[in-house]
Amino acid sequence: MAELKQKSPLAWNDLKEKAPEHHRWCRAFFNEENMCELIDNNIAEAFNGSLLAARKMSVVSLFEQIRRMLMERISQNLKECSKWKGGIGPRIWRVIEKNSRAANYCEVIFNGAAGYEIMHGEDRYIVNLSEKTCSCKKYTLSGIPCTHAITAIRDKRGKVEEYVSSWLHFSTYMRVYSNVLQPMTGRND
Ligand SMILES: [Zn+2]
Repeated sequence: MAELKQKSPLAWNDLKEKAPEHHRWCRAFFNEENMCELIDNNIAEAFNGSLLAARKMSVVSLFEQIRRMLMERISQNLKECSKWKGGIGPRIWRVIEKNSRAANYCEVIFNGAAGYEIMHGEDRYIVNLSEKTCSCKKYTLSGIPCTHAITAIRDKRGKVEEYVSSWLHFSTYMRVYSNVLQPMTGRND
């Protein structure tokens, strides 16, 4: 914030009331328990967008619309999950593949216990594989091994898949989506 104030007093003034630890616009202050590195509110917007017609309805009809929407969504997600090859989904594999390519440019030093020091260009990062953390915070926040964690996993000759957070495993998704909603009869019944 001090550096920002020097560069742009106007920007500093705008942001000074919105401390990053309270408003969460800075990765360093994200909540690590959520296992999600996203900061935007797209999920609320998307949910709201799908209810455009229903928003004008009375409360019971609105709830009914949401129930039907969720019933379909859960069954669609269950169907998608059953197509996964291996223990994690295709979107997570794509992130791992991207991070793996960048890992070719990293160097590693191992301390003999759980700590890895990863050199990535001019920067250095600390990876702890048993705690599934990296000081760049991407691994800690998303549960998907970052470039630095992949460098450490390679050094250990481990399998990347085994270092993905259990929140993102096939078995967890199946456990969540196997709780389906039951069909209901209409208003006349
Ligand atoms: Zn990292």
